[in-house]
Amino acid sequence: MFKKILIANRGEIALRIIRACKEMGIGSVAVYSTADKNALHAQLADEAICIGGERPHDSYLNMQAIIEAALKTGCEAIHPGYGFLSENSEFAKLVEACGLKFIGPSGDIIDAMGNKVEAREMMIKAQVPVVPGSREIIKSFEELEELVEEIGYPVLIKASAGGGGRGMRKAYHASELKEAYTTAKAEAKAAFGNDDMYCEKLIVNPKHVEFQILADHFGHVVYLGERDCSIQRRNQKMLEESPCKVLDEDLRQRMGEDAIKAAKCCGYTSAGTVEFVLDHEGHYYFIEMNTRIQVEHPVTEMVSGIDLIKEQIRIAQRLPLSFTQEDIKLNGYAIECRINAEDPQHDFAPQPGHIHTLHFPGGFNVRVDSHIYQDYDIPPYYDSMLAKLIVHAPTRLEAIKKMRSALSELVIDGVITNQKVLFYIMHQVDYVRGHFDTSFMEQHLKEMVEENG
Ligand code: ADP
Ligand code: ADP
Ligand code: MG
Repeated sequence: MFKKILIANRGEIALRIIRACKEMGIGSVAVYSTADKNALHAQLADEAICIGGERPHDSYLNMQAIIEAALKTGCEAIHPGYGFLSENSEFAKLVEACGLKFIGPSGDIIDAMGNKVEAREMMIKAQVPVVPGSREIIKSFEELEELVEEIGYPVLIKASAGGGGRGMRKAYHASELKEAYTTAKAEAKAAFGNDDMYCEKLIVNPKHVEFQILADHFGHVVYLGERDCSIQRRNQKMLEESPCKVLDEDLRQRMGEDAIKAAKCCGYTSAGTVEFVLDHEGHYYFIEMNTRIQVEHPVTEMVSGIDLIKEQIRIAQRLPLSFTQEDIKLNGYAIECRINAEDPQHDFAPQPGHIHTLHFPGGFNVRVDSHIYQDYDIPPYYDSMLAKLIVHAPTRLEAIKKMRSALSELVIDGVITNQKVLFYIMHQVDYVRGHFDTSFMEQHLKEMVEENG
């Protein structure tokens, strides 16, 4: 058993990991930036170390400072959470080279999956369906034109190192291709310092369906059902649910088995997510694998009853999974809303500020994962997510009703949030019926913002 773990993150996910450590009898060390000296993660961990300035590069992305803090406090492992260094292979390798365990897959696996062109090639070899498109990085615009000639419009130009929905542009006609390519490439360069691009057929208005997998060091791989994350704005998820209403048992099993294939073909270990787009005819295609815990992991925990953070820690300790695929029983429906400090009236611009009144909803099967508190100052340097509101109920309709009730109870005064937009979604007929895909927000955003004005 690990005696002590360092958490290389902030916000709600740092709290989530600290809580798992406490329950497992493992000591926890928080790291924090100067902007986070009053943050809850720094207060709730057994120990806390300031690792640098407010800017992420000076603190939460400062590998040396984090590893030094772990060694100085006698930690045996580092949990990276999501975002920040969680998908940084150099960090994973450095952690292991310093004699610590990285709670996640090896640096080599992070590299392989983080390079989306390489990941696609591995999936093709493993016979997992991928979206028709590039077999290698696009070397020139002329090469892109040739490829598009083959696969046909519409297409999506994507960054091979992409993440967080950035570095991708659609093109529906030849006249849009150049512009899409140049802007996606420039965005990729700015966001990831890497402008390797590839191209996929654009699957028109698909559902985003992803499978949670767990893999230990003994070749056991299981999937814990799926999450429907189709409610997105600019390719970024806003709310997620599990299970996905449109999957029947046969499709679920086929996609789940392909997710396992995806994990096995790269020798994956730890928790991971295999993302697919699903079209209206029931065809599905691999888009990427996320080699970390995800923001939306709680919906899977609610329906499976399995604590994913504890499993990640156990796997990193080289313990075998304590259950098989047959043991996994999924119950009911879970929905998660991401409550963000952002202004829907102004293109969802982030809203730093002071929270002067706060009330979180409660009740049977209502869960709030959050790092904010009354009189908390939201620093402007980090992600705008304030809380995740998660509900669980026997049926989807009951889960929707519970979410409506929970959202109407939630009070966050002092900053503008997306709370009303989420409440509105919960009342949309198409959402309630389960008739939605990744175009939902685009279709409904205008009316939502106007009605909330
Ligand atoms: P998920 O599938 O878990 O929702 P996201 O792509 O939304 O994943 O990203 C998870 C978190 O990581 C978000 O908080 C997001 O802001 C952050 N994130 C995504 N990409 C990056 C990046 N390149 N650098 C830092 N943080 C990132
Ligand atoms: P990221 O690493 O930024 O999360 P993804 O490849 O997972 O990038 O794509 C983000 C989102 O973009 C997906 O959730 C989906 O909504 C959309 N998307 C990605 N690829 C396609 C595609 N080929 N066709 C249609 N939509 C896509
Ligand atoms: Mg993705």
